[in-house]
Amino acid sequence: MNLLPAKKILMKTKNKAWLGTDYTMNLYKGCHHGCIYCDSRSRCYGIENFERVTGKQNALQMLALELQQKRQKAVIGDGSMSDSYNAFEKKYQLTRQALELFDTFDFGVSLATKSDLILRDQDLLKKISGHAPVNISFSFSTIDDALASKIEKRVSLPSQRMAALKELTASGLYSGILLMPILPALTDDWSTIEKLVLQAKENGAAYIYPFWGVTLRDIQKEYYFQQLKNIAPNLLQKYQQASADNYYYPIENLMETKRKFKKLCCQLQLEYSMTRIIEKYQQRYQVEQLSLF
Ligand code: SF4
Repeated sequence: MNLLPAKKILMKTKNKAWLGTDYTMNLYKGCHHGCIYCDSRSRCYGIENFERVTGKQNALQMLALELQQKRQKAVIGDGSMSDSYNAFEKKYQLTRQALELFDTFDFGVSLATKSDLILRDQDLLKKISGHAPVNISFSFSTIDDALASKIEKRVSLPSQRMAALKELTASGLYSGILLMPILPALTDDWSTIEKLVLQAKENGAAYIYPFWGVTLRDIQKEYYFQQLKNIAPNLLQKYQQASADNYYYPIENLMETKRKFKKLCCQLQLEYSMTRIIEKYQQRYQVEQLSLF
């Protein structure tokens, strides 16, 4: 893996709207998990050759220094420009070492991944959750293993992610599902979504947060269309037309699917509102801080 110089690791988030994080960091850039819809391929993120993963020089030393300098404890979100558990993490353990720093300096963490390698770090996540908020999100675009092996080529299958979710929630870690993107005409049929919601509940998820469609812009759109030619050539024209003037392409039967989704989540007592998802995993620590005060 190539290492590139970096000036800073922690970036302040504008508000805590995304999973309640105060800062984000990316220890890696690029990802070779091969999700055909990955928005991080878009030109606006400036990652050339997206499937070649690079790390940041001295990332952990810089992170330790930045954490020590913070006056207020906070929640750090990891991995928007890569999966924190990409293939290099097994060897380089940058994510694991960052978790050790969060534990040492009393910071919380919110991780999103498609890889069951996260189970390796269960011990550390448990330790951190003893004193600071921890949220683990598994991202899915479908529950169908056969389809996932074509659209998310080099990462744990949905069934493996569900098994990892089960293990983490059984150990008491707050975990849920980011159902995103849902791909129009490919992964948006209600029976597939319903199956995913039911399995999420069975495996202990606290929430499911959906994104009802896919974004398609510049080089990422070109890449998606190239892949679609092999996976579902019959859908290519439909996608080209739908994304010609707008980079957001919503799922088919949007209103009806949303209605069924909300109804099912309410029945199963699964959270789907971002505000509630954040409250649930951060509430306990705020109460503890207040009572100490
Ligand atoms: S795992 Fe995440 S970062 Fe990696 S290719 Fe898939 S969507 Fe992109």
